[in-house]
Amino acid sequence: MQILDGKELSTSIKDELKNKVIKLKAESITPGLAVIIVGDDVASHTYVKMKESACEKIGIYSIVHKMPSDISQEKIMETIQMMNTNPNIDGILVQLPLPKHIDTDKILQTVSPDKDVDGFHPLNSGKLSLGLDTFVPCTPLGVMKILQTYEIDPKGLDVCIVGASNIVGKPMMNLLLNEFATVDICHIHTKDLKVHVKRADMVIVGVGKPNLITVDMVKEGAIVIDIGINRLESGKLVGDVDFEKVSQICSYITPVPGGVGPMTIAMLLENTIKSATQRLENA
Ligand code: NAD
Repeated sequence: MQILDGKELSTSIKDELKNKVIKLKAESITPGLAVIIVGDDVASHTYVKMKESACEKIGIYSIVHKMPSDISQEKIMETIQMMNTNPNIDGILVQLPLPKHIDTDKILQTVSPDKDVDGFHPLNSGKLSLGLDTFVPCTPLGVMKILQTYEIDPKGLDVCIVGASNIVGKPMMNLLLNEFATVDICHIHTKDLKVHVKRADMVIVGVGKPNLITVDMVKEGAIVIDIGINRLESGKLVGDVDFEKVSQICSYITPVPGGVGPMTIAMLLENTIKSATQRLENA
C-alpha cells in the first residue's frame, strides 16, 4: 500500500506557484483574491485564515470581507459586484455555508465567471461537464492532481464516488468522466452502498461521516481517496474511511489529515494565478 501524500505534493506545487507569482509581478500584475465570509462559524473562519496565510506565503494579495450573520442578501451581492469590477482582484471566493436566510445559489451566480476561482458558477460547471477549459472546483481538482502525480490513470477504471454535492461529488464525476473512467455516484438515497463500493477499482468518498467506508466494503487492491473531514469529540481529525483497516487491503490511500485537504488550498492558489495570468494576457 502506498500513501498518497497530499501535504508533500501541495508544498511542491506552492513552490512552483511562488515562482509564477514572481513572474507575474515582474509584469506588474499582483494576483489578488477576495474572500467573503458571513457569520462566525468557527470552522469557516479557520479555513479562511488558512487560505489567507497560504496567499501571503506565495505573494498573492488577499482581502477578507467579514460580514455579520444577519447581513442582507443585497449587501453581500453588492460587495461581490464591487469585487467583480475591481481590476486588482482576480479571484472571488464566498466561504460556505452561508446563513439560512441567504440564497446561496443566487450569491454564487453573482460572482463573475471570470473570477470564479472556486468553480461554482453554473457557467463554469457547465463548461466542466462539456470538458472545456474552465475554473474547476478546488477539491476535485486537487484529487486529479494527486492521481496525475502518482501516475494513476482513471481511464477505464470503475470508480465509485460516494457523496454527490455540487462542490465535491458532481464535479469529481465530470472530471473522471472526462478522463474516461466509468463512474458510479452514490448519495444518501443509494439503496445498498456496499454493492457499489465493493465493485470499484477506485473509491472516492466525500460525505462527512467517520467510518462510513469500512474494510468489508472495499475491494482488495482498490485505490481509496478520502475527502471527508470530521472532527471527533476527542479533537482528532478523521476522514470518512476506516483508515487503519482499509489501508491494510488497498493499493493507495489518502490520509486525513495530509491528503486531499492541503491540495484544496493549493488548487485555490493555482486558480487565482490562472485568473491573474488571463488578466495579463487580456491586457
Ligand atoms: P454535503 O453535505 O453538501 O454533501 C454530502 C453528500 O453525501 C450528499 O450528496 C449526501 O447525499 C451524501 N451522503 C450523506 N450521507 C450519506 C450516506 N450515509 N451514504 C452515502 N452518501 C451520503 O457535503 P460536502 O460539502 O460535499 O462535503 C462532504 C465532506 O467533504 C465533508 O466532510 C467536508 O468537510 C469534506 N470536504 C473536504 C474538503 C477538503 O478540502 N478535503 C473540501 C470540501 C469538503
